[in-house]
Amino acid sequence: MKECRENPFRRLIIRGLLVIAVLLCLGVSAYGEKGDSPASSSTFSRQAEAGRALPLLSKNNPPAVPVQDLPSAPVKIKGAEARRSRISGSSADVQGADHQASSAQQISAAAGKIAPEAGHRKDKRVVYLTFDDGPSAVTPKVLNILREQGVKATFFVLGDQAAGRPELINAIWEQGHAIGNHTYNHNYHDLYSGFTEFWRQIKQTEETVREITGVRPQLVRAPGGTFGHFDNTYFTLLKQAGYEVIDWTVDSGDSRRRGVPAAEILQASVADLTSSSVVLLLHDGSGHGQSAEALPAIIERYKAAGYTFGILGAQSDPVQFRVSSKAAALKRGKPSQDWISANIVPNAQLFAPGTALALEIGRMETKLKPGEYRVQDGQYYVPLRATVERLGGQVGWNAATRSGTVIWNGRSVTLNSETQEIGILRLDGTAEYQAAQVQLLGESLWVPLRTLLEAAGHPGAESVVSAEERRVKAA
Ligand SMILES: [Zn+2]
Repeated sequence: MKECRENPFRRLIIRGLLVIAVLLCLGVSAYGEKGDSPASSSTFSRQAEAGRALPLLSKNNPPAVPVQDLPSAPVKIKGAEARRSRISGSSADVQGADHQASSAQQISAAAGKIAPEAGHRKDKRVVYLTFDDGPSAVTPKVLNILREQGVKATFFVLGDQAAGRPELINAIWEQGHAIGNHTYNHNYHDLYSGFTEFWRQIKQTEETVREITGVRPQLVRAPGGTFGHFDNTYFTLLKQAGYEVIDWTVDSGDSRRRGVPAAEILQASVADLTSSSVVLLLHDGSGHGQSAEALPAIIERYKAAGYTFGILGAQSDPVQFRVSSKAAALKRGKPSQDWISANIVPNAQLFAPGTALALEIGRMETKLKPGEYRVQDGQYYVPLRATVERLGGQVGWNAATRSGTVIWNGRSVTLNSETQEIGILRLDGTAEYQAAQVQLLGESLWVPLRTLLEAAGHPGAESVVSAEERRVKAA
């Protein structure tokens, strides 16, 4: 009898404790979002702002795949709206894939256009218009001209500009142009002080673009070009990570000095109309209005000379400058083997063809692409934030204890990479600690999928493997 009466009180106390725990977690997140934590920089707050300004783009907006799940980024706990977009996470993936397919169609359509002409003439000529440093106020003018002329181009965008003008990144993408990565801030001193900083900016820009278009840029153009800047380490590691570095064959000269007039840009752009393949360097960054001014005439001249207009892809023969003796002699430190294993090696899988891992958990479903998960010791390892957020849960990061806290399925689960422990606080108030393989890889937490599902109250995971995909189902 006594027991029966105690139970409701106990439950009340337990609920109270749980509410406090959840509130504490939310409190941590609010603190993080203000960017007050010493580790979070204004850059991240700017990114967060850009993210918030993008409600229309949520279709392309599955949570980040945290090969670069920066622990210093604000802890994201989003509301129902964000969750709604995640429920359709799998359809967002499909849309992303559709868009890729349509780009592929554009490419093959472009190839198709070339084909009949190629039958008549042996010298199939292609010009690849490339625009660096945007997007800026000049970009809409360039896009209008390209649309009017029925011409495609490649835009090597800067991450900080993209974060501030996501609608232009979307416009470039929607018009079927290619988007390449031109680093985050274009600062030579930062970028060429050592490879790891160059890498950090490539990943940051990649994430910014991926949040807008759903697709990771694979093409990279070095600010100022590779010559005098890249040594073998830069070339080798970027290639190993799955990127294609592209310089140019013709410089329009539009950035030689301020305000180069359109006539001069035109002249330099069409100086050689005999090469079978031209990669033309132009700029659509701020202050490059004259480049847009020159563009219709540039296109006209190339058309008249029998050129078709291509967009660069990872398949294009890369145009790269050689390593200069100056760059080779810089003696910049090379990243450690551990760093390469944690960053470069898994990154290549992001671009490698492979098998996706579909997760069907409760009523939610999502898909991790090849490279977004790992198989180790016969187990699936998944990045904590991307996996949980795509399945409708929330994840907070505590930099001090290097641990992540998951609010999911009515539970609070803390995964600590230092103590290798999982703490589970259940709805009924019971708490439990277990040893677990919580890995801090690069800058993200990875956990065995089965351990995560069991801790979060999704037991009995079944795994099915077919030629097309890997699938894990749990109640
Ligand atoms: Zn540039």
